[in-house]
Amino acid sequence: LFSGRVEFLLSAPQLKFLPEPTVPEIAFCGRSNVGKSSLLNALTGRRAIARTSVTPGRTQELNFFEVGEPTLFRLVDMPGYGFAKAPVKVVERWRQLVRTYLKGRQVLHRTLVLVDSRHGLKDVDREMMTMLDETAVGYRIVLTKADKIKASELAKVTEVTAVEARKHPAAHPVLHVTSSEKGMGIAELRAAVLEDA
Ligand code: GDP
Repeated sequence: LFSGRVEFLLSAPQLKFLPEPTVPEIAFCGRSNVGKSSLLNALTGRRAIARTSVTPGRTQELNFFEVGEPTLFRLVDMPGYGFAKAPVKVVERWRQLVRTYLKGRQVLHRTLVLVDSRHGLKDVDREMMTMLDETAVGYRIVLTKADKIKASELAKVTEVTAVEARKHPAAHPVLHVTSSEKGMGIAELRAAVLEDA
């Protein structure tokens, strides 16, 4: 399926620009620089469907990509969070946009919360997970850049993250461990996304 049509639809800086909720959506979120664009590119087998490392000011929008011909579902690239220098106003705007999207979007079938393997869960991730718990949107936790750390460290961060995930009502109990660079865990995650959609 992913080898078929994958196309950028639109970028919504505000909720009034959201596309009609006609097909299921799977959303991707995570801290800035977590590897979200790389993962979207790896999943779709495209070199640059999502721009990697856009400048922080340009990331306050929801980007929609359509998959399938006719469209079967959409991938939604949510604005990255936790950028250290973001002004309070920008953070507040992000929270408002994201919360309202999560709360009101009936076609949103699942969210993927990306977490850098090297860093594990941070407070901004916990805040995101709590927001998803509260809005009752199920999510999978995806460890990214797994090639960057030793196997023993990876096993440890996977275990610690899984234990914490189990305390969150909307979190899927099974973690995904991935590397967009090495292709690790990508096929499995692609299958999970298809299942969720
Ligand atoms: P985004 O800001 O979350 O969209 O993150 P990007 O996809 O732009 O990735 C941020 C940086 O991490 C870039 O320099 C990527 O090349 C790098 N990166 C992303 N995924 C991986 C990965 O799986 N392995 C390694 N080694 N680097 C990665």
